[in-house]
Amino acid sequence: MASLELEARLDNLLSTAQKETANIDLFAPMAENEECPICLIPLPLHDGEVVFMTCCGKQICNGCTYKEVMNDMKNGLLESKCAFCRQPDRNEGKPNIKRIKKLMKKKNPEAFMQMAVYYKEGRNVIQSDTRALEMYICAAELSHSNAYVSIGEFYENGVVVEQNMSKALECFELGAKKGSVHAHKVLSIINGRNGKHAKGIEHLTVAARSGAQDSMDYLMKVYKPYTFIMELIRYRRMLHMLELILPSPLFLLRDFGTDRNCK
Ligand SMILES: [Zn+2]
Ligand SMILES: [Zn+2]
Repeated sequence: MASLELEARLDNLLSTAQKETANIDLFAPMAENEECPICLIPLPLHDGEVVFMTCCGKQICNGCTYKEVMNDMKNGLLESKCAFCRQPDRNEGKPNIKRIKKLMKKKNPEAFMQMAVYYKEGRNVIQSDTRALEMYICAAELSHSNAYVSIGEFYENGVVVEQNMSKALECFELGAKKGSVHAHKVLSIINGRNGKHAKGIEHLTVAARSGAQDSMDYLMKVYKPYTFIMELIRYRRMLHMLELILPSPLFLLRDFGTDRNCK
């Protein structure tokens, strides 16, 4: 179980975040993701479509990374270099722990997130759930919204900390208020599981509006049975509009030439 010091740090983190987000509506439209430093387009929401560079600590979209690799290959450069800072990747694609630790010293939240995954999975470091949680706390203290979701999962599963679903929910909601699309997806599943389907759909709608394709696909499936009814309503409205625009059929049948009053 977590040490008293870790528990106190968690309590402090959550109460600070509660104060910071007190005036934010849980279902408010979300701000755009931060921009890719090369193409200046908001980064994709899917983690697999973004590369975290341990050289400069930047997150770069796959499109820009691929473009730079192709350019280097065309110019005969075999050593892979960062698309942003052009530093060579001397670790042959393997994670560079030293570089990540340097970024952690510079308070790069993404570096803490990366390290948390390594500790959680025991990749490149000795597996430790406690160290993973500490890394997520550091990332959350630096306002990384997804870190709150990860901390919530520790409470949900009773790992390192005591199982506590209300604290898990608190973390997920804080993550959502701080801008995590992933948090809205998790909240949608939990609400659905608890029979609160309308709330679940509301969370999914926020995620879909911010560009999450999987949430959009799910909503399309949910609303498909209603599309026929919607079509009928639209058709009825169209008929009503025609009634207003077109002259009455009786008006068209009137024979003005033979109308006695017009003689
Ligand atoms: Zn880009
Ligand atoms: Zn770089």
